[in-house]
Amino acid sequence: MTALQDIRSRMSAACKDAGRKTESVSLVAVSKTQPPEKVEALLKQGHHLFGENRLQEAQARWLPLEDAYPDVKLHFIGHLQSNKAAEAVALFDVIETVDSAKLADALAAAMEKQDRHIPCFIQVNTGEEPQKGGVAPQELPALFAHCKKAGLDIKGLMCIPPADDLPAPHFALLHKLAGELGLEGLSIGMSGDFETAIRYGSTHIRVGTALFGIRENNLTK
Ligand SMILES: *Cc1c(COP(=O)(O)O)cnc(C)c1O
Repeated sequence: MTALQDIRSRMSAACKDAGRKTESVSLVAVSKTQPPEKVEALLKQGHHLFGENRLQEAQARWLPLEDAYPDVKLHFIGHLQSNKAAEAVALFDVIETVDSAKLADALAAAMEKQDRHIPCFIQVNTGEEPQKGGVAPQELPALFAHCKKAGLDIKGLMCIPPADDLPAPHFALLHKLAGELGLEGLSIGMSGDFETAIRYGSTHIRVGTALFGIRENNLTK
């Protein structure tokens, strides 16, 4: 069984346990820092949905593959600076990390200019960690209203729980916040906790190391 098949079967089992349809959860394969041959192996198995957290790395990896794999869809899952909004809109199919009014405005302007209207998620800093991206939970309603006014198509919420916390309370909080705003999308769950996230309503799990193995050090390769 390949790692992809293993993750797929664990996703199905978790959906079944939660009384959910398997198709209600998408697998975003986080290819950041992975060597091209591992990413290509996944493409050859027919997987087309990937996540990247750095714009430049994503451009270098995916622009050359565009012709060979036209069905690939890319989610941006890292911190995005407003001045990179246009480049991100040009390459990505979903931006998961909208976390400020300034970024929302820059994205909306870029989408308008490129006539390319892609869905977005708002990233919420559920652990209120100062070094982490995301809007504070109490500022979410205002940012959501701003995004809507700017014309962004907000599909849901995304969070990355603090590394030292149990993830479940963060997933529960995000689920509650999404419900209050009438949003269905929930980007929660990574390699170590995606089954828990599926129980809390995840619609997009972001899995890196469990699919690709531990990131290799370029120097030893
Ligand atoms: C790297 C990364 C992931 C994947 O994490 P794994 O633990 O390797 O599955 C998920 N989400 C974000 C935002 C990431 O940066």
